Amino acid sequence: MKTAVRDSANLMRLLGLDSNQVSLSSKGEAQFPVFVPLPYLSRIRPGDPFDPLLLQVMPQYAESVDAVGFVEDPVGDLKVEKSPGLLHKYPGRVLMVVSGSCAIHCRYCFRRHFPYELAPKSLQQWEPTFRYIEEDDSIHEVILSGGDPLTLVDSTLQSIVERIASIDHVQRLRVHTRLPVVIPQRVTDTLCEIFSSTRLATWVVLHINHAREIDGEVEQSISRLRNAGATLLNQAVLLRGVNDNVDALHQLFEKLVDCNVSPYYLHQLDRVAGGAHFEVPLELGQQWIADLRKRLPGYAIPLFVQEIAGEESKTAL
Ligand SMILES: *Cc1c(COP(=O)(O)O)cnc(C)c1O
Ligand code: SF4
Repeated sequence: MKTAVRDSANLMRLLGLDSNQVSLSSKGEAQFPVFVPLPYLSRIRPGDPFDPLLLQVMPQYAESVDAVGFVEDPVGDLKVEKSPGLLHKYPGRVLMVVSGSCAIHCRYCFRRHFPYELAPKSLQQWEPTFRYIEEDDSIHEVILSGGDPLTLVDSTLQSIVERIASIDHVQRLRVHTRLPVVIPQRVTDTLCEIFSSTRLATWVVLHINHAREIDGEVEQSISRLRNAGATLLNQAVLLRGVNDNVDALHQLFEKLVDCNVSPYYLHQLDRVAGGAHFEVPLELGQQWIADLRKRLPGYAIPLFVQEIAGEESKTAL
């Protein structure tokens, strides 16, 4: 993470792009800085201002334009915070925002305005959350999210996992992460050991939006996670300019199943302020999913969903 590219000028320079080819948003960049780790940068095609990987990380001018209905907390996270950093939105599972950092900054992120500084920073500060989980025996699953939970050092992660595993009625650990994709070297032996040694069934949900995000190193990081006993799923976001056609989606979902990762969700974009230029009309997504049913096996087709604030689950589209 220390060597990541942290501003648009460097990003442009390293990719051989000049300011005639891209118009940037300094306002967007000031709100949510550029952050692109080198292993991800190496998969972006130099000289192509429309590269689908680049568009996910580059603060385009369109971010500065206010769009009606695009707001700071589109999914109502702040209303369901039960103790600091704990979201209990859906029956049976809770989500812990264990880290405010990410190893990449995705411009369309629905938590780009989340007040991470208020979330707990130490195991001690998490105790109210662990007690909340202890007191509700309907909670069978704990999701580690963020930010990216794998930005935590392994020792902290291990302590959190062990504390969760000490609660009898919790059966499953879920980790929502993009780190094995953007810095595949993050999947260390120590990390695998944490997953293989816990009594909890471990589900790792990756976040990959385009087939070209998966190179040989990512395939290896996925294999290491699988060998550690984790079950792997993927969530993708439908994004204009990135994966908004049936062939791009076909290639993504087929590549995922070839790597033994199940496409879980395809998300309709959450309407976050600064993200409007990524939105794809809902009807197009529905049509592409219907078309893919004629091209791919059923297990390669994710559920197309949207998060509607106040609902008891993601809403199938
Ligand atoms: C999306 C989400 C979950 C997980 O939902 P699943 O349908 O189980 O994947 C859990 N908690 C929160 C707060 C969420 O936003
Ligand atoms: S990795 Fe996830 S949480 Fe982090 S910026 Fe990207 S979408 Fe947001």
